[in-house]
Amino acid sequence: MDKNVLTASDLWTELSESVRSAVSEQTFATWFEPIHPVGLDDSALTLEVPSKFYYEWIDKHYRKMLLSKTKAVTGKEIKIRYSVVIGEPEENGSVPTAMETATGRASTDPFYDSGSRLNKRYTFSSFVEGSNNQLAKAASVSVADSPGQTSFNPLVVYGGVGLGKTHLLQAIGNKVMLHTPPPRVHYTTSEKFTLDFITAIQNNNSSSFSERYRNVDVLLVDDIQFLQKKEQTQEQFFHTFNDLYQRGKQVILTTDRHPSELYGLKDRLLSRFQSGLIVDIQAPNLETRIAILQKKAEDDDLEIPYEITELIATNVRGNIREMEGALIKLLAYSSLSHSDITMQLAKRALRETLGRSGTKTVSIDDVIQSVSETLDVPEKKLIGRGRKMEVATARQVAMYLSREIVGASLENIGLHFGGRDHTTVIHACRAVKGKMGERADFRRQVDGIRSQLEF
Ligand code: ADP
Ligand code: MG
Repeated sequence: MDKNVLTASDLWTELSESVRSAVSEQTFATWFEPIHPVGLDDSALTLEVPSKFYYEWIDKHYRKMLLSKTKAVTGKEIKIRYSVVIGEPEENGSVPTAMETATGRASTDPFYDSGSRLNKRYTFSSFVEGSNNQLAKAASVSVADSPGQTSFNPLVVYGGVGLGKTHLLQAIGNKVMLHTPPPRVHYTTSEKFTLDFITAIQNNNSSSFSERYRNVDVLLVDDIQFLQKKEQTQEQFFHTFNDLYQRGKQVILTTDRHPSELYGLKDRLLSRFQSGLIVDIQAPNLETRIAILQKKAEDDDLEIPYEITELIATNVRGNIREMEGALIKLLAYSSLSHSDITMQLAKRALRETLGRSGTKTVSIDDVIQSVSETLDVPEKKLIGRGRKMEVATARQVAMYLSREIVGASLENIGLHFGGRDHTTVIHACRAVKGKMGERADFRRQVDGIRSQLEF
């Protein structure tokens, strides 16, 4: 081989070593390790990055450094181009992408565009199981194990935004692809399905449309709520579905609400959905949210102290995507300021994520929610009448914090806690203060909730 020919990967190896010595370990792991060199010609080096966010970040903060290092290595002025991955990069090309297997042809077939590829990050092993998603996950795994062979056909997974529907759907696709020979899998969204259908009509080409969608073993359709009111597309979908179903092919769908609540969905489509299995994903509880963050950190080789994952998980409730956003922001801050990931930095990232400036206003309901999650007493019980010791103590803590942090009046606090008298609130505050003075573990616990609420 000609020694003078520098490949993209040679150049990147040298460059990244030089970058590694110039930035912190954290920065390197966050921003540079995920980069793959994909091309080099006389004038430019092309780097593949995981998302647009990466590209913007690297370009903004490290462009000069990268350019000067490139020049140092090559002795030439070489530009840097970025390409954003839509699927995952094919590691040594061993696992075929959905697109290639589905078509058995090269990726030039415009029908299977890059948008229909499976993202390899979304697997069952990267999906954290919790009580909120257990059933959905179990059903997904069994469908992935024996597509078309279970009574879960179609499998419909529904749940709110950012709760893991797409992740599960793609995990099914990725797992199915591991069967030998790999079945033909096609992932699409209902919007893409609609668009393809409209294009087919416009081009007078609806037979090729149905051929293409029916020529699969497993069809994954994300976000079917967008089929609402699109009667003709629904019709088309109905036929596609029936055809696949009759031939023992597997269909898996996701939607943001229970199919019976999909307004403007044809009855016969609804009854089709109901003949399979409909499972939901709920919002994850605190433990699951913490576990998800820790899993992300672990998968990306990041060391993040437990109390920081807890802080993020406590404050970003409900939507996992937003929670991940807070984590990415924190990494960005840490890497920008060349500093470790600290509580202070985490609080700042959180404030930005949640769109708050300065100190946030905490309500009695926030206090109740935090106490309920941290001390593991259901909110209903906190504001109820029960006198069991743990419940009574947790209730007193919540009253105390409502007084201390929210500054609410005794009467108002009493009202929030099941219409109790203001003297009960006074008594609760005294009891908590007393106990905090006597027991260090109790004080730490109360201070912990307080600092999470007050960040
Ligand atoms: P949806 O499709 O329901 O709007 P996504 O599947 O896109 O939500 O999930 C949003 C983000 O949260 C993704 O990055 C996904 O990987 C992550 N996520 C959701 N649920 C889990 C889970 N149980 N374990 C790990 N990551 C999860
Ligand atoms: Mg989704």
